[in-house]
Amino acid sequence: MADDCIFCAIVAGDIPARTVHETDDILAFLDANPLAPGHTLVIPKAHHRHVGDLPADLSSAVFDAVADLTPRVQAAVDADAANVGLNDGEAAGQEVPHVHAHIVPRFEGDGGAPIHAVAGERPDLSDAELDGIAADITAELDG
Ligand code: AMP
Ligand code: ZN
Repeated sequence: MADDCIFCAIVAGDIPARTVHETDDILAFLDANPLAPGHTLVIPKAHHRHVGDLPADLSSAVFDAVADLTPRVQAAVDADAANVGLNDGEAAGQEVPHVHAHIVPRFEGDGGAPIHAVAGERPDLSDAELDGIAADITAELDG
């Protein structure tokens, strides 16, 4: 548990949440400031800031819960679809420094946008630049 982490405080039961699912490792609860009815957050109970900090078993547990919950949340609020995503790091909009996946139910004609809308201006990358980026990522993975 991390001091001053609101999601750790929810896990500890120190502040209330509308919990919809709980296992030994995972908690899912309604977002307090929802983007849509049914907006749900899925978190590991253990405090980790970044998705890349999660041990493999925990990242699997988070994604398993997201996969299990997404269609059920959709059904519960009669949604047509959902966006699933994480803000990973402050520059990406992460405000609570405890890994959490958002499940945001979507409705035909709700005026929202696809997840492609989250980034800034699209870069105009040449084939050579794309090749270079792919090589850099591969080198990172091999390193
Ligand atoms: P992010 O910008 O990805 O860090 O999102 C944090 C989310 O946590 C926001 O959508 C908030 O509405 C939500 N949130 C903050 N405090 C609480 C809380 N006490 N209970 C439920 N959701 C919360
Ligand atoms: Zn925490």
